[in-house]
Amino acid sequence: MNRIGHQAAAQAAWLGFCTGERLLLHDSALSWQHVLTGMVVASSMCADDWSPDSDQGGVMAKIIPGGHRGPTHMPELVAAVLFGLTHVVGDDLDWFVLAAAAAWGSHLFVDFFWGGIPFLIPTLFGHKKRIGTKLDTGGPAEHWMTLVLVTLAIPLGYVAFGGDIPASWIVS
Ligand SMILES: [Zn+2]
Repeated sequence: MNRIGHQAAAQAAWLGFCTGERLLLHDSALSWQHVLTGMVVASSMCADDWSPDSDQGGVMAKIIPGGHRGPTHMPELVAAVLFGLTHVVGDDLDWFVLAAAAAWGSHLFVDFFWGGIPFLIPTLFGHKKRIGTKLDTGGPAEHWMTLVLVTLAIPLGYVAFGGDIPASWIVS
């Protein structure tokens, strides 16, 4: 998937998290400043240098073993690192880890369908095959998925930024 698709997926995931928080936690959900800053974090970590695709070029590609779609694309490894981070950064920066998780999680989710991703455990046992499907990068499925994700992000953003929620949605 191209950069725009990863961006759309990351924003939909992040705003989805924030909307979920608002529906469940109400007033103690993230502030609009956090929602906005999280959008910037998710945007900068879902493609290019700070994303799983940092294994594709530049300095990081030389450091990370296994070539493109190696360790940075293993869902178990990424989940473990993110989980570890929540313990290191403390409560004040939970939102940051959540935004990073939206970026990296959505990236792997999308890569699963557009080319496949390696799973940690089988890879450690020498299994080289990726798991997933091989949709065409830049193909019609990608255009549709990007459109759906952007369309989804608009109402999610509305709620995440504090827009009025229909009373029937509220879980209390
Ligand atoms: Zn990737």
